[in-house]
Amino acid sequence: MACDEEFDFVIVGSGGGSMCAALVVKAMGLEPLILEKTDLFGGTTAKSGGIMWIPNNRFMKRDGIADSAEQATTYLDAVVGDHNDTPGASRPRRAAYVEQAPEMVEFLIDQGIKLDRHPYWPDYYSSAPGAVIEGRTVFAELFDASALGKHRHKLRPNFVPVPVKSTEMWELPLFKATWLGKWVLAKVGLRMALAKLTGKHWIGSGAALQGRMFEQALKAGIDMRTNAAVERLETDEAGRVIGVVARIDGRERRIGARRGVLINAGGFARNQAMRDRYQPGTSAAWSATAPGDTGEMIEEMMRIGAAVAQMDEMVGNQAAFPPENADGIALVVSEIAKPHSLVVDQSGARYINESQSYMSFCQGMLARHKTVPAVPSWLVFDSQYATRYMVAGTMPGSTKPPAWFERGWLKRGATIEDLAHECAIDPARLRSTVERFNQFARSGVDEDFDRGGRHYDRFLGDRTQAPSPSMGPVEKGPFYAYQFYPGDVGTYGGVITDVDARVLREDGTPIPGLYATGISTASVMGRAYPGAGASVGPSFVWGYVAAKHAMGCPPGQVPRKGE
Ligand SMILES: Cc1cc2nc3c(=O)[nH]c(=O)nc-3n(C[C@H](O)[C@H](O)[C@H](O)COP(=O)(O)OP(=O)(O)OC[C@H]3O[C@@H](n4cnc5c(N)ncnc54)[C@H](O)[C@@H]3O)c2cc1C
Repeated sequence: MACDEEFDFVIVGSGGGSMCAALVVKAMGLEPLILEKTDLFGGTTAKSGGIMWIPNNRFMKRDGIADSAEQATTYLDAVVGDHNDTPGASRPRRAAYVEQAPEMVEFLIDQGIKLDRHPYWPDYYSSAPGAVIEGRTVFAELFDASALGKHRHKLRPNFVPVPVKSTEMWELPLFKATWLGKWVLAKVGLRMALAKLTGKHWIGSGAALQGRMFEQALKAGIDMRTNAAVERLETDEAGRVIGVVARIDGRERRIGARRGVLINAGGFARNQAMRDRYQPGTSAAWSATAPGDTGEMIEEMMRIGAAVAQMDEMVGNQAAFPPENADGIALVVSEIAKPHSLVVDQSGARYINESQSYMSFCQGMLARHKTVPAVPSWLVFDSQYATRYMVAGTMPGSTKPPAWFERGWLKRGATIEDLAHECAIDPARLRSTVERFNQFARSGVDEDFDRGGRHYDRFLGDRTQAPSPSMGPVEKGPFYAYQFYPGDVGTYGGVITDVDARVLREDGTPIPGLYATGISTASVMGRAYPGAGASVGPSFVWGYVAAKHAMGCPPGQVPRKGE
């Protein structure tokens, strides 16, 4: 291939695993290139919570939380399991993940990335064998984006516009209910005021993670380009991937890749045609992913023979669309799990445990919709809820935007029957649903859907609520309701990869020179979401694995700075 430039490893996209892979390549004295098609680095990863699900990590050991490779394997066996239609989650791939994830964290720490663990974020199937109740989540500490200098504005912003630590994120919305919540609110306010005085630009969550990665990538002198969309993979006569054709700042460039190409180009959540093909009944408009999540690299890998799997799967996330919302979308996962509220389908029936993980909730919502209209569903709540908890991202007890009522987005009724009338639901049906739910809230046991039966359910609730942190009666008017949809934070299917992150053909052989990570691939977690960080974690881990393999780094050896 006659090329304009040549690198050792060409990395397509700047999401989770990209800068990790590039740092591996640099640490081994070789030259990586990162090509990002949008005008900002970081991908959906920078927008995200930035949590990584890392079993048996060093922070758990530090804090005396028991875990081991065997325990993590037991857990993944139980919740992911072995299925013919999830080859990305094969037993050897799961084992490789369990082994490589803690090693990847060691590599990041050695590279100067400041990480920690969340003290309490239960695995999502917290009653399954091998689950860790305290959780296996790792996140980046707050980052002062001033360290990026003139590159600060090249980083994609996070979905939380204030500098909140991951540990504070869950407490802040409870500031009306707990003293700790009030303290956290004061602390965040003080942090923001001090930052103004001292010229700091604190950022949190996924932006902190990707900001820290970006800082180290800049220090390492890694060549990273925005407005650089890869359009084609180049192969030689033997089918080996030897480079890419990219449009960089409007000009076509042919770029050679001596040791391989890594695709970390996200999924296809924003490509309606692909959604119609693989996930009919879902909408790109319900996705919270970054704008570059348009799937063309998955199609390009398929063109040169890559096999794909579980393209019908997404990481669902309950999403509402209140008028005048700055982001256009409000992710309402934890709001739906708060006491004094319940979810009903369009017939007024309850059909699901509202406090389960977002992915399984949305799977349940779409399944329900096959028999009873449930897309959208209604979140019904009372005035106690409105006073104590956030409503579609607004502060507890705050006056809601008049447009919410004027445009009929937020329904209100003095009685349950009035509310039902506003929502075009049979009043008697809604009344009986609410009365049954209220009995469960008073006894603390949900006999229908076991809401509150797991540690994770209760984590999402309000620990000051008794007898169950997950439920409270819906009994004090006025009553409210809004509709929400099975939105997503990413698709979960893509090309099939092996234990070395090599892209496989239908016959199971690897396409030489082609690696993939992140949600461009069929997830190592199959159709399950074992815990917070089950998307960003694998993106980093397989990026790390791919770069090590392509650069010839022996298994078990952690590439060190300057080696
Ligand atoms: C609000 C929110 C919170 C979330 N929180 C978490 C969390 O805490 N933990 C977790 O595990 N998951 C979380 N998720 C999901 C998670 O963020 C994503 O699934 C994950 O970040 C995807 O990472 P990735 O590396 O695969 O892709 P991305 O981070 O999306 O990166 C892909 C990049 O590739 C670029 N690209 C695409 N095509 C091309 C091309 N042709 N040429 C060049 N570049 C291209 C894209 O523009 C993009 O920048 C969250 C998502 C959202 C929206």
